[in-house]
Amino acid sequence: MLYCAPNKKYSDFIIVRDPDKCIDCRVCARQCSYEAHVYDESTGKVFSDDTRCVGCHRCEAFCPSGALLIRQNPSEFRDNAVWKPWFIKNIYKQAETGGVLLTGMGNSYPYPVYWDKMLLDASQVTNPSIDPLREPMELKTYLGSKPDALRIDAGSGEVRLAGGFTPQIAINYPILFSAMSYGSINLNVHKGLARAAEEMGILYNTGEGGLHASLYRYGRNTIVQCASGRFGVHSEYLNAGVAVEIKIGQGAKPGIGGHLPGEKIGPEISRTRMIPIGADALSPAPHHDIYSIEDLRQLIYAIKEATDYKKLVFVKIAAVHNSAAIASGMVRAGADVITLDGFRGGTGAAPTMIRDNVGIPIEMALASVDERLRQEGIRNQASLLVAGGIRCSADVVKAIALGADAVYIGTAALISVGCTVCQRCYTGKCPWGIATNDPFLAKRINPEIAHEKLANLIRAWGHEIQEMLGGMGINAIESLRGNREKLRGIGLNESEMNILGIKHAGA
Ligand code: SF4
Ligand code: SF4
Repeated sequence: MLYCAPNKKYSDFIIVRDPDKCIDCRVCARQCSYEAHVYDESTGKVFSDDTRCVGCHRCEAFCPSGALLIRQNPSEFRDNAVWKPWFIKNIYKQAETGGVLLTGMGNSYPYPVYWDKMLLDASQVTNPSIDPLREPMELKTYLGSKPDALRIDAGSGEVRLAGGFTPQIAINYPILFSAMSYGSINLNVHKGLARAAEEMGILYNTGEGGLHASLYRYGRNTIVQCASGRFGVHSEYLNAGVAVEIKIGQGAKPGIGGHLPGEKIGPEISRTRMIPIGADALSPAPHHDIYSIEDLRQLIYAIKEATDYKKLVFVKIAAVHNSAAIASGMVRAGADVITLDGFRGGTGAAPTMIRDNVGIPIEMALASVDERLRQEGIRNQASLLVAGGIRCSADVVKAIALGADAVYIGTAALISVGCTVCQRCYTGKCPWGIATNDPFLAKRINPEIAHEKLANLIRAWGHEIQEMLGGMGINAIESLRGNREKLRGIGLNESEMNILGIKHAGA
């Protein structure tokens, strides 16, 4: 037989089953949504197919006898600095299918992660550190447009603020759960996010899939999103939360729209998104009514009118080359909060080439946007939220020192409820029951347990942030905001340090 294309199916992982430990209980076969483990009735044995394994580690975690080990497949192609194995395997797949390669989660290419090239300061001798266990440490953050100075009106015999404030949102931690739509994740995860946000005094974001009827009660902790597809957007929805986020772009797939396949649109999602059961939910790449900053201003003010000027309007863009100029226009258009989403931001589904090659790191975008808004004297007119690859509390502290008011976490939040970043969210078969609407799989997420884990994550990061602040001799997160003196670069070149606006370690 002649082959003109490779007949070998390349597996990224090897399933190692220890025959001395395996009791053929079939737990792995039941847990694996990709059917990498199969029970053979005739032999009474469980077998594995490496080519089906996506490296989610669910079977390993649930095997009662510790018989399984999932390993990265060490069988590699000949070492080649240009033709990396993923290029070769991708070409094989495309030669077979003729299709666009899809992926999930965020960019995992080895681009520099600038959080890891910045170090935080600590007080020594002259400026004493503060013990967060004994002293009050303030993490409360106010989102919204602030005046540059307070004007006092004492004319009427009563001293009060002249002009008043535009609406503000107070959050107990500078951390929010980022937009993840109902449909891309299931209702159990949304319930966990909503309850954790309520308990911790922070916010979660509906994403572009509308708001399920059972979640309206969490309005005080909800940001509702209005994206190009306008799924589930109506007056009650716009007024349901404390803010409306206009999504222009997303870090994982800047410049393109979204697609939730029709097979994921069951009765509940159909009702919430206001689209027919089984119809593909396609969000167009642009908003068809926004082609300029003036158009954006119209939508911002249409939403403010529709919500009686009581809700904040966030505008979210992907971090791209000219984010600073765009952000300046967004502030002038009336956005109360600018959301910047870097290229490591997660997604339920994105073309692999877009995810891995379009956009810029959030650290660079944040530094340049904050700098530009300061130079133009409009930094106080909007809060700055950053998203896309915030992995730990130190990333949060560095982001705030670079100029952010608060951060969004998405992937980290999902990891706290079990996600192993297998990047197969687009298949709808998430083995951990997160990025799936399959009722059998979705039951793997218990909303109450998800709520506890998410709340614990925020609580833990809060303690760590307080410790880092205390170490720097700072007792309020507000005093760290944009304080780049507290950062030093390590292994950065001159232009990287210029853009980040920080000095090198030792300087
Ligand atoms: S879960 Fe573990 S013990 Fe049970 S069949 Fe699978 S490998 Fe064997
Ligand atoms: S959400 Fe599920 S499918 Fe997506 S990366 Fe995490 S474990 Fe994998």
